[in-house]
Amino acid sequence: MSTDLHPLSADEITSWDHEADVVVAGYGIAGVSASIEAARAGADVLVLERTGGWGGAASLSGGILYLGGGTRLQKALGFEDTPENMKAFMLAALGPGADEAKISEYCDGSVEHYEWLVANGVVFKESFWGEPGWEIPGDDGLMFSGGENAAPFNEIATPAPRGHVPQMSDKRTGEKGGGYMIMEPLSRVAAELGVRAEYDVRVQRLVVDRDGRVVGVAAKQYGKELTVRARRGVVLATGSFAYNKEMVAAYAPQLEGRPGAAIEEHDGRAIRMAQALGADLAHMDATEVAFFGDPQLMARGILVNGRGQRYVPEDTYPGRIGQLTLLKNDNRAFLIIDESSYEAGCAATSSTPFFRFHPKWVAETVEELESDMGLPGGTLQTTVEVYNRHAADGVDPVLGKKSEWVKPIGTPVAALDLRNCTAGFTLGGLRTTVNSEVLHVSGEPIPGLFAAGRCTSGVCAWGYASGTSLGDGSFFGRRAGVSAAAN
Ligand SMILES: Cc1cc2nc3c(=O)[nH]c(=O)nc-3n(C[C@H](O)[C@H](O)[C@H](O)COP(=O)(O)OP(=O)(O)OC[C@H]3O[C@@H](n4cnc5c(N)ncnc54)[C@H](O)[C@@H]3O)c2cc1C
Repeated sequence: MSTDLHPLSADEITSWDHEADVVVAGYGIAGVSASIEAARAGADVLVLERTGGWGGAASLSGGILYLGGGTRLQKALGFEDTPENMKAFMLAALGPGADEAKISEYCDGSVEHYEWLVANGVVFKESFWGEPGWEIPGDDGLMFSGGENAAPFNEIATPAPRGHVPQMSDKRTGEKGGGYMIMEPLSRVAAELGVRAEYDVRVQRLVVDRDGRVVGVAAKQYGKELTVRARRGVVLATGSFAYNKEMVAAYAPQLEGRPGAAIEEHDGRAIRMAQALGADLAHMDATEVAFFGDPQLMARGILVNGRGQRYVPEDTYPGRIGQLTLLKNDNRAFLIIDESSYEAGCAATSSTPFFRFHPKWVAETVEELESDMGLPGGTLQTTVEVYNRHAADGVDPVLGKKSEWVKPIGTPVAALDLRNCTAGFTLGGLRTTVNSEVLHVSGEPIPGLFAAGRCTSGVCAWGYASGTSLGDGSFFGRRAGVSAAAN
């Protein structure tokens, strides 16, 4: 990667290799959404994509879109939700410090955004999947995807499932996911609207005129420098910085050596290019954290840290388990589960059967298990004793796991070693307005520059819910397209 990030002066360019009204860098979820809306607003749109085709991380993803507030799908399946209820959940779960203005717009516009996706060819099946899981294993259309129905959020807002998943029957998590079923129709619509695309083009620098307005980009294609003029605006949509080692070390060191749910092209270049023009950043330390535990097993056992103590209701969103494990518990987790619950969890349908690890320790008593695991004497025994005392009444007053998953832990009992079982992607990035304008450190928008997707800080600050990435990438991607075309 060229290290020269300094903006190029338009005065130095005598002839442009390409021109368009709106130039979009990156053809993933944010890029395709921006392109469609810019084209619909009458702009001539050119997308520059570093790889050989559209798709990005979005095409590989599970396809969960975080939508709610009373979408047609939620209503058809009998779930009540309102923008206010959705907002209460998002502010509690995605913070502290989540962008309230963005969350408000996102919740107020969510029903319309669902209709937009449907109108552009994304199909959601009217069926609900209610099991604990990372993703939906079959082709159902709706799931809980952020711990809405688990403590503490089930007391902060009325639980409503908001993980909307495009229909697809032959999924393989991490290899062939529902995200393709979003990107395929959207990129087809973009092409029908006349959006042009140039592939194998790596955008590297911004081009500015004498007034500091962004008027194009400099890029590289097959070793050749290209200049591309943007008559109205440039939209940055190149993804996160999960694969930029220096940036991860500087901003989100907890993720060092463990990038996940991202692609190598997520090298933070757009953030750096815009920083070189004075762009502001937000929540650069925030990260999504995947956890390699099968939710069907976790809900049936108890998770303890390196001190033998519980720290999370095990029936919550597994990404919250990942965050609390990596960020608050030294990345040390053990799943304590008895034989009958382990067998029941293994027999249940799961989208992640490959996370069903074999027990590392098995014992006839908790005392023996504790000793075999090398935990301080009495720690695990106390934890199990307290858990079982209340579980006999079907409740978990300590962490609020729902009664349906609460059952005394019997014997023989096992422990799964889930230490260092985390990976994730970065959520921080360029600070943008609700209309996807990139903000200068002074607080003013940088003229001609727009951004969306994971190169920006979206609706998440500390927390995460599955679907918020494709969700805010598409939602604020659309805004970026509208704003750039109107510029
Ligand atoms: C296995 C997996 C499962 C996931 N599941 C979900 C899920 O269910 N729900 C959810 O919300 N999120 C999910 N995610 C995360 C989600 O896919 C991404 O966070 C999201 O796609 C980010 O959108 P984006 O538009 O910013 O980036 P992308 O969709 O990755 O698009 C960015 C594009 O920019 C291109 N690019 C990069 N650098 C340049 C450059 N210099 N010049 C030109 N082009 C460039 C890239 O090649 C890429 O095509 C998942 C990710 C993975 C990998």
